[in-house]
Amino acid sequence: MSDAQRLVVPRSRAQAAGAGPEQAIVKPQDQQAPGRKGPLQLAAVGLKKSYRKAQVEIPVLRGVDLEVRRGEFLSIIGQSGSGKSTLLHLLGTLDAPDAGEVRFENRRIDNLPQAGRDTLRNKQFGMIFQFYHLLPELTTLENVLSPLMIAHGAWSYFRHRRDHLRRATQLLDMVGLAHRLKHKPRELSGGEMQRAAIARSLIAEPQLLLADEPTGNLDTATGEEILSLLRTLNDQRQLTIVMVTHDRAIAAQADRTVRLVEGQVEVV
Ligand code: ADP
Ligand code: MG
Repeated sequence: MSDAQRLVVPRSRAQAAGAGPEQAIVKPQDQQAPGRKGPLQLAAVGLKKSYRKAQVEIPVLRGVDLEVRRGEFLSIIGQSGSGKSTLLHLLGTLDAPDAGEVRFENRRIDNLPQAGRDTLRNKQFGMIFQFYHLLPELTTLENVLSPLMIAHGAWSYFRHRRDHLRRATQLLDMVGLAHRLKHKPRELSGGEMQRAAIARSLIAEPQLLLADEPTGNLDTATGEEILSLLRTLNDQRQLTIVMVTHDRAIAAQADRTVRLVEGQVEVV
């Protein structure tokens, strides 16, 4: 990978703002994150979701309205049990709302047939989770490649195998895991597993990254590193990120934060 392709990962946002010579890839205009938001990309309109437990209906989301612009880094905070994961799953079409709509690029997506939702998740959305969800039997490199095997099918995958391998290796280099290609998840640290999961989430070149407590299982310093990586992806590649977290300090590193309270979104 040439230096121009390599993602420069600053250690902190403050450091990114005072970029040294080796960080010259970050253009000054890119640093003014709030000023460069694109058109509306993702929207939740009046989302409602309840769970039924022993004949009792427990409302979790009571009419969530949310708008995310292309290139934005939004964090959603809320206490444990406030419905953050539920909301993220609805945004990512992993689950369907009881009422309301999810819209992506001006198209309603919550009511698409299964195949349409699968395509959306395989091609347009990247997702990362608190517990990484790596496949334990696969190496780091194979984990990163796995979405392509699923999305392309075996025949097409093997025909383009060389390109896929090159791309997966580049992504793992970008997240700082070039020396861990053959390791299995159990041989990686928590931070390394999350880096691998981030590389995997990017392999299909998604337009939107949905992150559910991506630092929730990491110590503070490692969590900061993962956040820096996400910030850099947002700053340098204009990847839209929606991240849920219960951690205010982590949330504060996004461009904008909203809070889930009693099943609705409040501006922070
Ligand atoms: P958070 O991610 O903010 O901690 P969740 O979205 O996971 O919150 O959960 C919100 C509420 O919904 C919690 O009270 C949880 O127990 C409940 N809940 C989540 N998933 C289910 C489910 N599949 N069945 C029943 N209740 C659920
Ligand atoms: Mg959760």
